Amino acid sequence: MCGVFGIYDPLGAPDRDVARLTFFGLYALQHRGQESAGIAVSDGGRVVAMKDMGLVSQVFDEPKLSALQGRMAIGHARYSTTGSTAWRNAQPVVQHAPGRTVALGHNGNLTNTTALRDELRGNRVRLQSTSDTEVIAALIARHPSPRLEDAIADTMGRIEGAFAAVLLTEDAVAGFRDPDGIRPLVVGRLDDAFVLASETCALDIIGARVERELNPGELVVIDADGPRYRQAVEPRSASLCIFEYIYFARPDSEMQGQGLHEVRGRMGEQLAEEAPVEADVVIPVPDSGTPAAIGYARASGIPFGEGLVKNRYVGRTFIQPDQGLRERGVKLKFNVLPSMLRGKRVVVVDDSIVRGSTTRKLVQMLFEAGATEVHLRVSSPPIISPCFYGIDMADQNELIASGRTIEQVRERLGATSLAYLSLDGLQASTSQSSDRFCRACLTGEYPTEIPGDMRNAKLRFEELAAAEAAAAR
Ligand code: SF4
Repeated sequence: MCGVFGIYDPLGAPDRDVARLTFFGLYALQHRGQESAGIAVSDGGRVVAMKDMGLVSQVFDEPKLSALQGRMAIGHARYSTTGSTAWRNAQPVVQHAPGRTVALGHNGNLTNTTALRDELRGNRVRLQSTSDTEVIAALIARHPSPRLEDAIADTMGRIEGAFAAVLLTEDAVAGFRDPDGIRPLVVGRLDDAFVLASETCALDIIGARVERELNPGELVVIDADGPRYRQAVEPRSASLCIFEYIYFARPDSEMQGQGLHEVRGRMGEQLAEEAPVEADVVIPVPDSGTPAAIGYARASGIPFGEGLVKNRYVGRTFIQPDQGLRERGVKLKFNVLPSMLRGKRVVVVDDSIVRGSTTRKLVQMLFEAGATEVHLRVSSPPIISPCFYGIDMADQNELIASGRTIEQVRERLGATSLAYLSLDGLQASTSQSSDRFCRACLTGEYPTEIPGDMRNAKLRFEELAAAEAAAAR
């Protein structure tokens, strides 16, 4: 996923500390990436970047933020999908070229990185990281056009896949979005300052108001002349990732003019219509399953209750990239409330099931706490295909619903019954037509071409980078 944020303050107001505002913006976007965080600032003459592994609040403290002085800034919270979880892949990445310095924060995943890396290597460009983001930064930094918007627009035409990016040079901030609009990017205003963010919740936290979403294929460059919008590449479709609606984005964010808490509530109502069951209590898998569980309880008339307590200071188990961590992480993250469960028939509502390892443990914990029946209800259809656009579920073998019937999945999870929301039901809940979304992991139909070398996507450049480093020694 990743969270991106950017701000341009034309006046350099003394009471507007852009690094601090970026910190708070990233803080609101922490759910989108918890592996590393970084901020780059410019005072109009020099780009300075600071980044490290860990949560936003672990990476930055008062002295570090105070050292980041400037009028414009970008920030990034990372969740890896291309390149390993390592410092060299933390963002923003910085590329220095004779004409300009570029710092870049990217949410998404390119699908033609291999060809572009080969081209850059052929031009003797040394890449420090194994991520696709540095490729974009290198192309823009080295672009022959002195006009930043031309350099970005041309690069946008050459990169493929999913990208919602924020960019900083010595004297400008820019944001741009892929022609399918797979990842979100919104523009806001804070008095005379302009703000870019992955989600509206990052604007809310700093008191900025929403201007509008950047359109698929659109670019905005903000400098001393104000913002300049350009439809840099033809929009191919408007394929926002439907998992932004289901799970990724915060419920207090708005997308395509809709509050996500309300949309998720409708998904739960629809699920209750499609998959009713006799039970004593409806509980959510907190927090992401809560709005749908409220909707399920409302539509079914079964009381809503809390049976699982979440430790909110442990990161999402799904978001941690390593399976070992994921397995160990469940007990750290959830505990049961036996008084709510003992002797009861329980409906558990979750937003999605990816690998199933967390769900299996939760079902077991609910039975151990005294539930007599555990009916699992999922407010999205089964995930059957990998995502190549920036979500870490690229290995088809890891997906519990891939190649299995619902009954086989139920058996693996140990639940009394299992039902998923239908694709039509999901679509109806969004109040949008299906052509406005990427739904590839639910249908297997991808909005862009997926090259063969994407099949083992995430770590495919690690060996290459190791070989290059050895050759350079
Ligand atoms: S494949 Fe699934 S997770 Fe990936 S962008 Fe499309 S809808 Fe979102």
